[in-house]
Amino acid sequence: MRLLLIGPPGAGKGTQAQKLSKFYGIPHISTGDILREAIRNGTPVGARAQFFVESGGLVPDDVMIQIVVERLSQSDVEKGFILDGFPRTDAQAMVLIEALKVMNKSIQKAIVLKCPDAVILDRICGRRICPQCNAVYHIINQQPRIIGICDHDGTALIQREDDMESRIARRLAKYYNALDSITRHFSDILEDVDANQPPDDVFANISGSCSRVA
Ligand code: ADP
Ligand code: AMP
Repeated sequence: MRLLLIGPPGAGKGTQAQKLSKFYGIPHISTGDILREAIRNGTPVGARAQFFVESGGLVPDDVMIQIVVERLSQSDVEKGFILDGFPRTDAQAMVLIEALKVMNKSIQKAIVLKCPDAVILDRICGRRICPQCNAVYHIINQQPRIIGICDHDGTALIQREDDMESRIARRLAKYYNALDSITRHFSDILEDVDANQPPDDVFANISGSCSRVA
């Protein structure tokens, strides 16, 4: 299964990708996680991306394309992958399609998660993540067993720098501005899923849609 998860920030792409990754036994490729790790590790990519990521802007296409093309050349994507947060521009979509074509592959399903802005705002403001394993929590909707601590590895949870309320409007505007130019590339494999439901119901809808892949 080669799957794209598209949706506004906070719609639940990461949450669903982690479930789908376990279910299908294929890697979850989150460009946001890759960038945050590069920033934490102080790599050259991290240094170039930091300002854009933390201010809620988009990292330039050349940086993103290099990251994804490199990641797709690794052997664990042979069986498939779930791409979360890429493509976010027309140019990224075109490069992705071309890079897969060279490997005789294509995206099989593109899911668009739909969620009202008011729900998004509540989800982003309450989001906490584990900086070690990238697990996603919410202070009310998806609490860890011990407040502030990751269930998987005991690491202290953090709030993302770009999850401040003041940055959210900019991130949403960027998403909605680019949406048509991304989805037009995948119109024949596109399916909308209502993300404003409990996580298990969203998962059932996505996996149901994936099971119909020819
Ligand atoms: P995205 O990757 O699309 O930015 P996340 O998966 O990080 O979104 O989810 C954003 C926040 O919303 C997290 O705090 C997560 O725990 C919470 N969340 C995700 N899916 C749901 C859902 N179906 N119902 C309620 N809260 C959710
Ligand atoms: P995410 O974790 O998907 O919400 O991404 C966090 C941030 O990383 C975004 O707001 C962007 O600054 C940056 N980012 C992630 N993926 C991309 C991408 N495909 N193109 C440009 N910037 C990206």
